[in-house]
Formats: sequence, structure tokens, C-alpha cells
Amino acid sequence: MTIWHPFTQEKTAAKPVEVLSGEGAYLTLSNREKYLDMVSSWWVNIHGHCNKEIAEAIYQQALTLEHVIFAGFTHSPAETLCFNLKKHLPALLTKFFFSDNGSTAVEVALKMAYQFFKNQKKERNVFINLEGAYHGDTLGAMSAAGNDSKYHSTFSEFFFQTFTIDFPENEEAEGLSLQKLRNFLETNKNKVCAMILEPLVQGAAGMRMYSPRFLEKISVEARNHGVLVIFDEIMTGFCRTGKMFSMDYIKFTPDILCVSKGITGGFLPLSLTITTDQIYQAFFSDDWKKAFIHGHSYTANPIACAAAVKSLEILERRETLNQIQMISETHKRLLSNIPNVFKQRSLGTISAFDVKNKEIAAQISQKMFKEHNIIVRPIENTVYLIPPYCISISDLERCYRALIKTLS
Ligand SMILES: *Cc1c(COP(=O)(O)O)cnc(C)c1O
Repeated sequence: MTIWHPFTQEKTAAKPVEVLSGEGAYLTLSNREKYLDMVSSWWVNIHGHCNKEIAEAIYQQALTLEHVIFAGFTHSPAETLCFNLKKHLPALLTKFFFSDNGSTAVEVALKMAYQFFKNQKKERNVFINLEGAYHGDTLGAMSAAGNDSKYHSTFSEFFFQTFTIDFPENEEAEGLSLQKLRNFLETNKNKVCAMILEPLVQGAAGMRMYSPRFLEKISVEARNHGVLVIFDEIMTGFCRTGKMFSMDYIKFTPDILCVSKGITGGFLPLSLTITTDQIYQAFFSDDWKKAFIHGHSYTANPIACAAAVKSLEILERRETLNQIQMISETHKRLLSNIPNVFKQRSLGTISAFDVKNKEIAAQISQKMFKEHNIIVRPIENTVYLIPPYCISISDLERCYRALIKTLS
């Protein structure tokens, strides 16, 4: 093997499956058969594969301006994207910083939060996270997720200091968890820089869900202690949870918002770290050292921005919103029919359930693939569905029938 694949134990993994093409919610594999993509190609695809309008926007942009340095230069795809996105954001989120993927959007958020205080001669180097967090695989993003991460503990000696909020399984636990956070903040508030959270759904933890009430309470608590609040909506953004952003379920605006994954409709890597004028002003100075000295070669790539502009336009359409509604309702209606599973949960276009162990989850995934031509990729003992929004109701129902058959 020449290629070393991501998130893969190369020795024990099955040979990677070759994909020939994609169309709508389907992928065609090397056996020429079509398979239903129920993981949206790692949660990025929202309008289906090879969407013609996005493909066309990419083609036109590539013929007009493929790329340009973004320091000292700007272009209309980037300007238009920010202008159009602003309409969907709380009024306070007005400053847009581009990067290339979810992890770098998080790195930017962490560095921004740290330097925000540093520029005001305050030294704050502790971050707060929520147990089970996942924020990406670069060093800062791994670090922000904390020492107990099931993915990254190999690197824990490099991690900066974090305080981890207990993940509450019920309302009573929420109170205890909040109290522990409050106690920590009261004794350490001048050391804490920011709290970072995946609002309402922790994707990589296995589509773990918690209440809007708890999200709002811990966010308010952090803010009341002068701690910045970062929402990592890399997975939850662009209507994954039924609303444009997860934060739309609560009355709270974070200081920093990270978005990526669905932003280009799943065509090209792109991300944004969006913040307030208050944060921006702490960098606005005659002193070059107070600037935010961060950037990537492909920052705000015009082709990726053009894809994102088109993707947002499609997302805003009534027919797309109807599809999202249909998926949400179908999840709610059919999830409880699956036998021999527990912790059934859904929010918007995401649904998930647990089985006894990861071996059973892996068997389910194999059966779905071999017997039903449906792609599901479990996380440990969790099986989840996260379809592209263009999926038909009959395909989604077929997927549930296949799960019911597999688990009976
Ligand atoms: C996927 C993900 C990331 C990392 O994004 P990449 O583009 O894979 O680097 C960060 N946070 C959350 C919540 C994610 O789901």
C-alpha cells in the first residue's frame, strides 16, 4: 500500500473501498453498484454528490480566478460569502477569519482567544472543555479536547491545561456539573481564557446529545466569569441539527464561532472562525505585534468560496428546508422501531442509537453494506445516520427497514 489512510489501523483494517463516482445520496463503487451514503462522506456533504449547480459554480470560478494571496488582497467570492452568511448569524458576530478545515478553524479560535487577553496584558492559559469533546487533530485542537480524549491521549504530554466539565446524562447531573464548573471558575477565573463546546451534539463522541438548557447555563456561567465562549459548530452548522446553527436553539451568542464541514456543500475544504467586534478591537492597533499573525497558503480560496456561496443559496431554498424537515420527522418516526438497541436519539438530520458493543456495531455496518448497499460507519458502539439533505423519503425509509431487518 502506498497510501496511508486517515483514522486507520492499516494492519487490521479491510482494504479501502474504491469509489468511482457519486450522484445525489449515492456513491458508485468499483463493483459498479450504487450505495446509499448515510455518513454524508464524513459529515460534509449536504446537497448530495456532484451537485450540478455547485459543480458549475466551481468551474466558472476556476476560469475567472482560481487563487490569490489573501493577505493584502480580497475577492468577491469571499466577500459575498461573508455578506450572505451574516444574514444567518446573531448581530454580534461580524468578523470573519478564513482557514482551510475544521481543525485550523479551531486553532484560530484558540489563538485568537489567548491573544485577546495577551494584547490586554493579561496572561490566561487555561481552557475549559466538555467531557467527550472532539475539536480536530492538530495539536491545539487535540489539546483543547483534553486529556481524556479517546483519540488523542498519545500526545497528552504536549497538551495545555484544561478543565473538563462533566458530561451530564440527565437533569440532576446537569446541576452537579454546573456547580463544579462554577466552583472552578470562582477560584480560577483569572487564569481561564476560553470555554470551547460542540453545541448540543458531540459528533465524534458518538453523536452524544445534551440539552439546550445545559448549553445555555454553562455558556452564561463562563461569560459571567469573564471567560470567552467558543462554539465549535464544524459538524452541527448548516442545518445539521435542524436549525441553521445549534446555537439557534438557545439565547446566547458565543464570542467565537467555528464552521467548516458542510460549508461548501462537501465539495472543497474551507472554514471560518467568526467573532465579534469586541475581540477584533483588541487586535486593532498601530503595533504590528498586536495583529493576528496567522494564515495559510490557501486561505479563502476563491473556488472553495464560490462553492460555499452556491451551497448556502441552495440551503436557503424552501425545498431544501422541507427536505431537512422531512428527514427530522422520519428520524423521529422510525428510530423507535429498531429492535434490540438503546439510547435512541435524534436532532434535526442526525439520528443515532447504541448497541451492546463495538463488535455488534461493526457487524451491523457490514450487513448494511453487503446486504442492503447502505454505507453506515459506526463510532464504537454507536450507529448513526447523517444523510445528505437531498435523500428521498423512500431511500431514508429503506434505510430504516434495513436496520430493523438487521437488528431483528
Ligand atoms: C470534524 C470536526 C472537527 C475537525 O475538522 P477537520 O476538517 O476534520 O479538521 C472539529 N470539530 C468538530 C466538532 C468536528 O466534527
